[in-house]
Amino acid sequence: MEIKHLREQKAVDSFIELLKEGKYKKATVKLGELRGMPEDFLKLYEYLAWESPLSKVKIRVKPVKAKIQCLSCDWKGDPEILKNGVRCPRCKGDVKILSGNEFSVEL
Ligand SMILES: [Zn+2]
Repeated sequence: MEIKHLREQKAVDSFIELLKEGKYKKATVKLGELRGMPEDFLKLYEYLAWESPLSKVKIRVKPVKAKIQCLSCDWKGDPEILKNGVRCPRCKGDVKILSGNEFSVEL
């Protein structure tokens, strides 16, 4: 079972709702390297893991590396990561993001 959401808060809420059902023994959170939100989520996750009846659920965070394809030179691989985005490390061109934006929970 996999749930994907674009909006983080919604994802967190759905995640908690599902865990409250108590049917799940473990959850894997896939988190893309380019996602800017992990802090809040991780706080919540620690709370769930240590302070609540949900603490029996084993939660694992799996980071997903960023991969890009350059729109100019067609290079594929790790991007050059800037403060406000990513670009091609070879020609500094615009890129298509192949991975790194993931945020999903698998139960
Ligand atoms: Zn390039």
